[in-house]
Amino acid sequence: MGVFEAIGTETHEEVLFGADLATGLRTIIAIHDTSLGPALGGTRFYPYADDDAALRDVLRLAKGMTLKSAAAGLDFGGGKAVIIGDPATLWSKDLIRAYGREVDTLGGRYVTAEDVGTTVEDMVLVSEETPFVSGLPFDLGGSGDPSPATARGVMAALRAIGERLWGTSDLEGRRVAVQGIGKVGMDLVRRLSEVGAETTVADPNTAAVEFAAEAYGSTPTTLDSIYDVDCDVFSPCALGATLNEETIPRLRCAAIAGSANNQLAVDWDMDAITDRGILYAPDFVANAGGVINIAVETDGYSPERSAVMVDRIYDNLTAVFETADSEGVNPNVAGLRFAARRIEDAGSRRFRHLCGEK
Ligand code: NAD
Repeated sequence: MGVFEAIGTETHEEVLFGADLATGLRTIIAIHDTSLGPALGGTRFYPYADDDAALRDVLRLAKGMTLKSAAAGLDFGGGKAVIIGDPATLWSKDLIRAYGREVDTLGGRYVTAEDVGTTVEDMVLVSEETPFVSGLPFDLGGSGDPSPATARGVMAALRAIGERLWGTSDLEGRRVAVQGIGKVGMDLVRRLSEVGAETTVADPNTAAVEFAAEAYGSTPTTLDSIYDVDCDVFSPCALGATLNEETIPRLRCAAIAGSANNQLAVDWDMDAITDRGILYAPDFVANAGGVINIAVETDGYSPERSAVMVDRIYDNLTAVFETADSEGVNPNVAGLRFAARRIEDAGSRRFRHLCGEK
């Protein structure tokens, strides 16, 4: 697949291919849009089947970051990087440093952070080669693990849903089915129990399920039956694409809001959700807490400032619901428009195609 063919009708600004023979590094950095500021996005270290798969993934992920940062009100654009290979066998300090030098060549147009396959420790190595890195540990002045901020942001989304559906942002007594209680899901369950909400949880990690039941009073259920749980909100916090033609008809919830990326298997699954009268919080709006936390770090990290900014997900989602009402579109399209208009307001028209506008 040719690079320009892969970019197709998208508007990625720049794609950098880097290699280092000594360490076996092969990396692709995609800068999707810098209208609002430097492209911010993590580095995925993954054994892609081939280079095409890596290119497709990095282009898709970079565009997703543009949306997420714009909808979150951040002055950052979208970018993403992949390192091709299995970290279990290819990883070395020298390779990560060589990758850091690649990031540095972009002179700050791209700011990296950790993602699947990379760690906070990797970002410390990257920081030895370039200042354009975020997601460093607390003791180095960084923001640490972004997961608690992501969970906080999902709570803000749940409050916005509460206000809209039930006229109160108080979540006490609400029933939330949480699919996946890893780093984000478990912190979400903790926060929900603190405000008196009831949770039902499913995760293949039985130790995590037992912990949630004991520590937070969660009701365990199976991986399959989580879709059938009678609840107020279904919260996908595991993998992408769990909202699809098989699962949506089964849901017994009033709303959906969670941390997982790319929750809809295909765009038109949104129609099935709307037809069922279920309110949907677009994933890129609801799960922006982590990127907000990382963005705050670039200005000198402050947990207080991060919390205030993450809580604005309540306002962002409320604005998305209002856009959906006033423009007669579903919340996903409204979210896309909300993000695109911020970019347009910044003086760029490059992003309008995302909403199907010319
Ligand atoms: P994680 O790997 O810590 O947790 C995922 C959990 O899902 C694991 O406990 C896993 O056992 C469980 N799981 C896997 N398959 C499942 C299934 N079929 N049913 C139920 N549970 C299943 O990941 P995380 O950091 O908590 O992220 C969760 C999701 O949120 C991911 O989609 C991630 O991309 C997204 N996300 C995370 C952050 C963040 O700050 N960590 C930010 C934005 C988006």
